[in-house]
Amino acid sequence: MAKREFKDYEGLVNRSMGIYGLLKHFPDDMSDEEVEGILHVLPKDMSSAISAVLAPRIRKTSIALLKGMQHWFDGAAEARARGKKIILVPFNFPPEFVYCFENAYPLTSEVLTVSGVAALEGQGERYWDFAMGLGLPDYLCSSNTIELGSALTGADFEPDAVISAAPGSCDANSKIHEFVARYIGVPQFILDKPVDDSPRGRRAYRTYFRRLVRDMEEFVGEELNEDHMREVLSRANEATQLYYDLWELRKIRPNPCPNLFTLYAYAVRYVLWGTEVGLDILRMMIDTVKERMEKGLYPAQEEVARCFWIYTYYYWDWYGFFNRMEERGITVLGDLLGSFFFQPVDLSSKDTMIDGLADTCWDYAMTRQVGAESMSAQWADDIAYWTSQLDADACIYCGHHSCKQTWSVFSVVRSEIMKRSKLPTLMLQGDSWIRRMLPMSAMDEQIDEFVGSVLKGKRTTPATQVG
Ligand code: SF4
Repeated sequence: MAKREFKDYEGLVNRSMGIYGLLKHFPDDMSDEEVEGILHVLPKDMSSAISAVLAPRIRKTSIALLKGMQHWFDGAAEARARGKKIILVPFNFPPEFVYCFENAYPLTSEVLTVSGVAALEGQGERYWDFAMGLGLPDYLCSSNTIELGSALTGADFEPDAVISAAPGSCDANSKIHEFVARYIGVPQFILDKPVDDSPRGRRAYRTYFRRLVRDMEEFVGEELNEDHMREVLSRANEATQLYYDLWELRKIRPNPCPNLFTLYAYAVRYVLWGTEVGLDILRMMIDTVKERMEKGLYPAQEEVARCFWIYTYYYWDWYGFFNRMEERGITVLGDLLGSFFFQPVDLSSKDTMIDGLADTCWDYAMTRQVGAESMSAQWADDIAYWTSQLDADACIYCGHHSCKQTWSVFSVVRSEIMKRSKLPTLMLQGDSWIRRMLPMSAMDEQIDEFVGSVLKGKRTTPATQVG
């Protein structure tokens, strides 16, 4: 009888690294038979995400994205082996800042959670349960608590330090990062957002950012090198330009940009900004979208609704959320986490580059809106801008059960959107990272009813070719 091997209990990052590590053996494109073979042997939870990303219309770009993620994970393992410092950052912090150090490497909490939820059997549930088992409250943010719950098990790849950019915008996020830093005994560097949104507040934020630079330089044992910074940030600037090129293409009706690409764009933003790999993925996305536009390809007979998600997506059923929706003619125009106001960084000097990074950091949605002087006003302003740009027909809100910040002002924001932009806004319950809260079938039903009754026949756009 074959000998059975049991592996030690492993954390989300280690398990995800193992799985993404397999991707380097994949060809850059795959036949339908190869995809079918893979789906046949994969565990159920993972095959759902893989079947979504390997849909023929997006397959090649998806493989590039997956390999990009594998590159990011491999980079962390390699950095650790070379004695570089692994810095855990939240999703409202630019990873390119960490890439500006030759001896540091960024891992992003929430992207790790999404990777685990997409790739692991059992998704991220055991790590959430572990955090709850320690007595942590269940009103934490599942977006970061799943990955950080894994760090707390003591059986995972651990960072050497944590940057927390959420104080001043989200207590749930900043407290769990602080707790983990203390629990595993690594330093935490804090970047506070003042509530003052005037130029004085911006100036204060730049000052805080400079203090973070000094702390990091001391911790990493390396002074930021201007030439290396310029190299990284010129790639980041190029990525910003490509992001806006893609944004322009997303305005077209019917939308030539597959729903999943909106997620890919911000996956790149959160982990690979400032790298060549990130640029390659963005270029490939744009080529695919242009090709679809030129051929008039769209996944359904007509585009029946263009919906902007005013907070986040659901990440635990990629096929159900992204692909099935576009196959019913419902465009996921984007969500708040993937919509940006970034400006290219001025590369003329080290000082301008640091200021540019501080400004980038401020303009991440969670910092800019949740940490604003008036959260509801800033949120509504930004939504009005994005939805008018992207020619949206409606808005949909979903998030997670414990995002007290957004829940607390949702009704104000909804009535403002309806008044100002005349866009009907659907509110969904459920949790973006934990499937136990509300099944996808229930969400589908509510979305279909909303589209069928509120948006019915309003602005459909026929496809030239279905595909
Ligand atoms: S604002 Fe909401 S989604 Fe963002 S980190 Fe805080 S709890 Fe999570």
